[in-house]
Amino acid sequence: MQRKKVLLFNPGTPNGDKVIKDQYCSFTSKAGYYWIPIDLLILSGDLASEFDVLVIDSIIEQISTAETRQRIIDYSPDHIVVLSSVLTHELDRSLIGELRTKISFKTTFVGDVFYFSPKEMIEFQEVDSIIYEYPCPELVSFIKSGSATCNIAYKENGQIVFSPVRKSVDIVYKTPAHHLFKLDSYSVPFMKDTICTSVLTNFGCKYTCNYCPADSVSFRERSVADIKHELDYLREKNIRNLWIRDFTFGLNKSRTTEFLALMKTYQFDWFCLSRSEIIEESLLQAMAESGCYLIMLGLDTANNEVMKTISRKQNPSDVKEKISLSHKHGIQTMLHMILGLPGESYLSMLRTAHFISNTKASFLSINFFSPRAGSSYFKQESIYKNSTRKLDSNYAEDRESFSRNLLLNLTKYYSLVIFYFRPFRIISILSSIKSKKQFITIIKTGLKMFSPLGSK
Ligand code: SF4
Repeated sequence: MQRKKVLLFNPGTPNGDKVIKDQYCSFTSKAGYYWIPIDLLILSGDLASEFDVLVIDSIIEQISTAETRQRIIDYSPDHIVVLSSVLTHELDRSLIGELRTKISFKTTFVGDVFYFSPKEMIEFQEVDSIIYEYPCPELVSFIKSGSATCNIAYKENGQIVFSPVRKSVDIVYKTPAHHLFKLDSYSVPFMKDTICTSVLTNFGCKYTCNYCPADSVSFRERSVADIKHELDYLREKNIRNLWIRDFTFGLNKSRTTEFLALMKTYQFDWFCLSRSEIIEESLLQAMAESGCYLIMLGLDTANNEVMKTISRKQNPSDVKEKISLSHKHGIQTMLHMILGLPGESYLSMLRTAHFISNTKASFLSINFFSPRAGSSYFKQESIYKNSTRKLDSNYAEDRESFSRNLLLNLTKYYSLVIFYFRPFRIISILSSIKSKKQFITIIKTGLKMFSPLGSK
């Protein structure tokens, strides 16, 4: 029997904006980098084992809507998995609607607003089904049979069916088909090699920061044996640079120890995102020995009162100490800071900026506080009524208040200047560059970071 054709599709934007849609969030790329869309990647292994799979990532391939449309018509898939988001779903649905006038296919939508609001989003006629969370091995049998035992909302005979939520913490999926993606086109600011792909060891987060969608995602994890298959495959493909994309790396101590012992037997260079509370010195040592060269940590604010408002319990001194420890073990750190958190004054933001600039962190990433689909802080508020610029943490624009936009942007630039314009930091960054692609990405990131206020 002929295998069905499945398209994994990341639609583009008419103005060429690189909207990153992954891990239950969406935002515009700060500096032109664009990494592999993890939601599609994680689904790709299960789907490729049963179907003919094509990936079209219109954003990274920089193809126009007309060309995208033609390529899809030429491929004529039976099923399209559409990576969408709160920032783009109107455009994405409109394109799917147009395609339906030419060819016939079923759709599954994935992405932040679809995961968190399946009841509202399934009502749209372009949307035939939605998965609640990825990975979703159930998608294979759903595409074959048209019905699902769990983890999918779908339309059947004119009725909407909400299958049950999957409960298990342990999750197994086939090794993602990295090779179906144009790996050499993606870029990440901290990549060391010309290709850097993503691997997950766990999903969701055990912390409860109320502005973060991960708070609403059920925690699941992979066995080390399952991860090993993926590492073997990546080594075979000669891919040596990895981003461990867990929201928080190291949440399960014993599995992490087992994972790091395994990683030590490979030659990967890798980086990850974690919390200061987790990275004890013994763990840092094992991470360094297994090829970890950078850890991203959040220190969204150093203000205790603001931390209470956002349910983020963290000791800034501990963050500072763990940055120094990482430095001691040869691991660079990047800190995340958020401007415009509820109740935070400009003075308090500046204090946080000075605190951060006096750590040994090598990089600083600043976002604006913005409504996130799925986060408990915004549960009572209909986020759909916000403009896309306000929903995008790269802008978080408040059209009602020009002066607030201006002050937040000035605070951002001041924070970046006092952080980056320090000789030891510049030397640390330049000395860590290992490839031409990394050099170009870092220079582009720097230039874009300091581009004029409010520009794209
Ligand atoms: S620790 Fe990070 S990923 Fe986890 S809930 Fe807080 S902000 Fe989200």
